[in-house]
Amino acid sequence: MKHRFDHSPYVVPHNESVKIGDFPTNDTNGIRDKKHAKDLIKEDIKTLAEAQNLLYAAAERSVLIVLQAMDAAGKDSTIKHVMSGVNPQGCGVVSFKKPTSEELAHDFLWRCYKEVPAKGRITIFNRSYYEEVLVVKVHPEYLKPQKLPSREGKTTSIWEERYEDINAFEHYLDRNGVKVIKFFLNVSKEEQKERFMERLNNPEKHWKFNPADVEERKHWDDYQQAYEDMLNATSTPWAPWYVIPADYKWFMRSLVADIIVANVESMNLKFPEVSAKDKQKLAQSRIDLDSEG
Ligand code: ATP
Ligand code: MG
Repeated sequence: MKHRFDHSPYVVPHNESVKIGDFPTNDTNGIRDKKHAKDLIKEDIKTLAEAQNLLYAAAERSVLIVLQAMDAAGKDSTIKHVMSGVNPQGCGVVSFKKPTSEELAHDFLWRCYKEVPAKGRITIFNRSYYEEVLVVKVHPEYLKPQKLPSREGKTTSIWEERYEDINAFEHYLDRNGVKVIKFFLNVSKEEQKERFMERLNNPEKHWKFNPADVEERKHWDDYQQAYEDMLNATSTPWAPWYVIPADYKWFMRSLVADIIVANVESMNLKFPEVSAKDKQKLAQSRIDLDSEG
């Protein structure tokens, strides 16, 4: 199991101020074209399957992958490609949409915490609690149905409180053996338009087109600001953000797979050892089977 790329250009440093515009959307790290990338992703998928197998067998740690992005950045296809080789028994995907009334009746982490993976498993969050500092920050009217306590006399903003709570939550997860890996799929405004147009022009892709996405696009700058604030406030040593160039989907998939592999590698997991006593039992089982004739 070995990873391929140097990931440092894509990690958001802790306690340093970054500008979202400084992260490229169209970098391919020397990968020449789609064909080249396809060969690599085949290997990556195999390596990822090995990594998952080890995680599952060791059953000590789990992996929580958080995916955040603007519409049409490729969350769905990343999930489809990256997880295509892994054993479905050991992984899951949870999509977070507009909160239901049951979800609104609880604190904002509730619906996500319930889905945190058990030991040995990988879970992907397709959107997450980060929506609470993204779409809700861009549309603060979404706070109203949350019926939060009065903010009278408070000197910090609700967003600062949420960053703090999210950091504490992720620290808690990390301390309890859940590796949190966060990807922001960074697509350019031009490429998003191309992809919307493609959905409109191709009848087979009409089902993917949502007029609300074009409405949200009008808030592009506000979203970029919210993403930048989020990256600066919540990239921590225990749960760093990776900003993944998303204009070339084939490169994005390869990089995401590679980062997941590197994270599992860094856990130094081992397949469970069989004790001397259990080895004796195995030997006995062999004798029993052989003697069946
Ligand atoms: P796709 O369009 O590929 O199916 P999607 O993740 O965009 O995937 P949609 O059903 O189109 O799914 O959109 C979900 C919507 O729910 C997004 O606009 C998102 O911002 C919104 N959402 C998610 N969490 C919250 C939240 N906590 N508060 C308000 N809106 C939220
Ligand atoms: Mg959508």
